[in-house]
Amino acid sequence: MDKLELKAYGKINLGLDVISKRPDGYHNLDMIMQTVDVYDDVILTKIETDGIVVKTDTTILSNGKDNLAYMAAMSLMEEFGIRQGLEIKINKRIPIAGGMAGGSSDCAATLMGVNRMFDLGLEKEELMERGVKLGADVPYCILGGTAIARGIGEILTPLPAPPKCHVVIATPPVSVSTAFVYGNIRPDKITRRPDIEKMVNAIKEQDLYQLSELLYNVMEEVTVPKYPIIQDIKDIMLEDGALNAIMSGSGPTVFGLYDNREKAEKTVEVLKAKELTRQLYLTKFIQ
Ligand code: ATP
Repeated sequence: MDKLELKAYGKINLGLDVISKRPDGYHNLDMIMQTVDVYDDVILTKIETDGIVVKTDTTILSNGKDNLAYMAAMSLMEEFGIRQGLEIKINKRIPIAGGMAGGSSDCAATLMGVNRMFDLGLEKEELMERGVKLGADVPYCILGGTAIARGIGEILTPLPAPPKCHVVIATPPVSVSTAFVYGNIRPDKITRRPDIEKMVNAIKEQDLYQLSELLYNVMEEVTVPKYPIIQDIKDIMLEDGALNAIMSGSGPTVFGLYDNREKAEKTVEVLKAKELTRQLYLTKFIQ
């Protein structure tokens, strides 16, 4: 196999709670992760020249050794002593630094792709063990679908698919530093938290209305006061008929869930007209 084309899907958090700060500097989280049909293309091609070459269709992303796809390929190829030259072409659609785990997903896709391309014979769990060393969300991106993620995000419990709905994903043109959000969140001071157990029940019972009501992300307490555009987007989604709308991950991406496609399309039109986003998708959950 000389060429392999992969889809690296983004995720949203239906629920996100920060439980405590750990001695190692990470935070213990309690999240419900959901894959959405927004993906980067990750194309692996064997090349004649030595080494790993990353090419992306954006200038704001590193092509070098700090690209997570490069790190994924390098770590596996070093471990297995593979000397073959490899090009990794990435077409980005997942908003960069958007709270949708785009980098982690490119990393996960590359681990899975290199494993297949060079017949390394690693099982999913073995790839996940290697992935967590590159990023806390990488094991989830390898698993995909719907899952509870605890610990730093690496302790995963798969869930059944949630009820079908329309999902509007809107990323405002602001940069939110993940370090800023974690640095300013006080787990002991959080007064409202998502009820993850109830959310799991709503998913199992296929109750979109109950699930929508329960969507909650504690990180909004830090990001919304600093970036009011996040609230503006949430308000527009709710005015236009979203069942609910919250921020994903550490932001600034906002998503809204809809039981009606026309209403979701209306939101997209309004957000476009008001020029409130740098990226905007009308999409769906995928497993
Ligand atoms: P998370 O939801 O896991 O916090 P995120 O969606 O906020 O992640 P990403 O787009 O995954 O953010 O990227 C975070 C940073 O990782 C970027 O600012 C970028 O410098 C770096 N990075 C390295 N490789 C990649 C990649 N292939 N795609 C995107 N970002 C990458």
